[in-house]
Amino acid sequence: GKPTVSHSKPALSLRDTWFRYERNSDWVLRGLDLAAPEGEVTAIVGGNGSGKTTLLQLACGVLAPQRGRLSRPHAASQAYLPQSPRAILSAQTVREELMLWSKGAGYGEAQVTAMMERLGLTGVAARNPLDLSGGQQQLVAFAKLLLTRPSLLILDEPTKGLDAAARTKLARLVQELRQEGRSVLLATHDLAFVSAVADSVSLLFDGTVTCTEGPDEFLAGSWLYHA
Ligand code: ADP
Repeated sequence: GKPTVSHSKPALSLRDTWFRYERNSDWVLRGLDLAAPEGEVTAIVGGNGSGKTTLLQLACGVLAPQRGRLSRPHAASQAYLPQSPRAILSAQTVREELMLWSKGAGYGEAQVTAMMERLGLTGVAARNPLDLSGGQQQLVAFAKLLLTRPSLLILDEPTKGLDAAARTKLARLVQELRQEGRSVLLATHDLAFVSAVADSVSLLFDGTVTCTEGPDEFLAGSWLYHA
């Protein structure tokens, strides 16, 4: 297929990036190149263990590459949604959880209430986040990220554990964020979600990006033969 061509300056770029977890272990990323265009939704797909989470952790600065060049112009205004949302939940109630973060961004009670409505969390406002379903926890974690007003969102398997209604809600939200001019880099196995939100899809295989296409071309199937 024809690669997506974008002329804007990337929101994030990695050039000839090499990463391994330990000195004598195999390289997880081997000379990877990736540019996430400003204001677009860039999806990373690839099999289990292909390095998607590792790539996102390099992108958000949790890990550093042994070799390569990373450009992170949004480093001061980015938000990372880890694969396990429990890791970022700590308050006694959903409302408190969101209040904690909103203060830093100058938000108050009203914005938190609006955010809970936007994500369908009003009914669980008084519940302990850790007692919620995995899908609800994912939405609370997502609400928390949005309250920091990030210009770049880095999302690891954002639809994991979500039912159809919550997936649709999340897809709509990501489309809104894009319309607001934010950039999104996400890793997923959910091809329906890719089709709904992505501007481009990059396939991660054997430590590098082996193809980047628009979602329609990607879903038309060529990736099956690369993966
Ligand atoms: P994906 O997100 O695509 O499933 P990961 O980035 O989680 O892939 O993993 C890529 C490779 O790196 C796998 O071989 C995995 O076993 C290895 N790996 C991931 N995390 C660690 C770690 N903390 N220490 C050592 N190896 C790791």
